[in-house]
Amino acid sequence: MEYETVIGLETHVQLGTRSKLFCSCPTDFGGEPNSQTCPVCLGLPGVLPVLNGKALEYAVTAGLALGCRIPETTKFDRKHYYYPDLPKNYQISQYDRPVCVGGAVEVETPDGAIRIRITRAHLEEDAGKLVHQGDSPTSGVDLNRTGIPLLEIVSEPDIRSPRNARLYLEAIRQIMRYAGVSECNMEQGSLRCDANISLRPAGAEELGTKVEIKNMNSFAHVEGALAYEEKRQAKALEKGEEIVQETRLYDAEAGTTRSMRTKEYADDYRYFPEPDLPEFHISEEMIKRLKGCVGELPLERKRRYMSEYGLSDYDAGVLTGEKPVAEYFEKIVETGADAKKACNWVTQDILRVLGEKKIAIGELKVRPKGVAELLDLIEAGRVNNTLARNRVFPKMAESGAAASEVIEKEGLAQVSDDAAIEEGCREAIGANPKALEDYRNGKKNAVQFLFGQAMRVLKGKGNPQAVRKALERLLSEEGGGQNAGRG
Ligand SMILES: [Zn+2]
Repeated sequence: MEYETVIGLETHVQLGTRSKLFCSCPTDFGGEPNSQTCPVCLGLPGVLPVLNGKALEYAVTAGLALGCRIPETTKFDRKHYYYPDLPKNYQISQYDRPVCVGGAVEVETPDGAIRIRITRAHLEEDAGKLVHQGDSPTSGVDLNRTGIPLLEIVSEPDIRSPRNARLYLEAIRQIMRYAGVSECNMEQGSLRCDANISLRPAGAEELGTKVEIKNMNSFAHVEGALAYEEKRQAKALEKGEEIVQETRLYDAEAGTTRSMRTKEYADDYRYFPEPDLPEFHISEEMIKRLKGCVGELPLERKRRYMSEYGLSDYDAGVLTGEKPVAEYFEKIVETGADAKKACNWVTQDILRVLGEKKIAIGELKVRPKGVAELLDLIEAGRVNNTLARNRVFPKMAESGAAASEVIEKEGLAQVSDDAAIEEGCREAIGANPKALEDYRNGKKNAVQFLFGQAMRVLKGKGNPQAVRKALERLLSEEGGGQNAGRG
């Protein structure tokens, strides 16, 4: 039997506010356990939550970036459950009137673009975490995360493969980063997701029984867990077994999922309106202002680079991967530099230096104008491409000096003077009689070898075209190639 896989994701994005959702405790990562707490987030009796306005703005901004509708009013609800990392025994979330409704994300896959609809996105507070200590019979609880603002983005079950689930999650991360609402740092848990997966006979309308896989925090885990679950369910269905609606956990090391508990339903949570918070109104003006903050989305930008600058799908994808990199590239182009050359410089040299230095593009000492100047100098023949790449640019990145300064100070100016180039070529030929002999015997790579030697004599500064031309002329004068030795 052929099955179709049906997947929906619930993505939790930590909004990048400096303080928590309902109190002023800091949201910094990695603090001493329980050092970032107060009576509100500890859930002590008699305290009142106060909504962080920035968190609401971020939620609206994220919703606008996802194409959601923002209802005029929104409200909070209590979701009840008992767990040691949840001191209030309820979580403040949103039940029937979320801040964002509807929307869709376009995702590029190797088989073409797909559209994943968004059901809703709502604000809620995070819970704390249990800290299990080796073999100790007791566990600790760290409530620093309690009350951190999360936006839960719920997709429709529009995803048809584990790979596309990963691509969707990557797209969400990129859009959230572009919108400036979250770093989506997976190692720090600021992007996590739960996935629902079910199988149905190919062509069937009705959905199969779904299983939820909880709390995954890496793209690879999402794809791995779903791929395992897809196989497990197909096997069970083939044997005529019934799929149990349940929550499962992914064991990344084993590459398997295991049952955690049977799935709970909304009724189990006894949702009711949060009595300590008013209804919130979202004005037209606020939506208008935040729309301006969203700007161009990653995929739009990528497509524009392809049509406006004639860049390849791959290059445009690399450039638009991170918004600051794309903006840096555009600033180089704004100076009048050739887009393709600017693209090569950014995707090859700049990204390499960022990787080596482990810095963000904003920390790079070379600004877009500096790159534009270097491109100009290469174009004008003041320095050759190889030296620009290997000597000039690294120095610029090190010291922040201008390209022309580095070229002068390091003596890297390109040698285009005919006499000097000819002299360099003669020296290379004179010092390598074996290569000359090879050349006379028709070995083509001898020319390439002598070219390298001549460039070495010229300390790498020769104008490559001029050196090649001079070398070829001198060699033909030496009487070589196929005619050698024929008298
Ligand atoms: Zn607090």
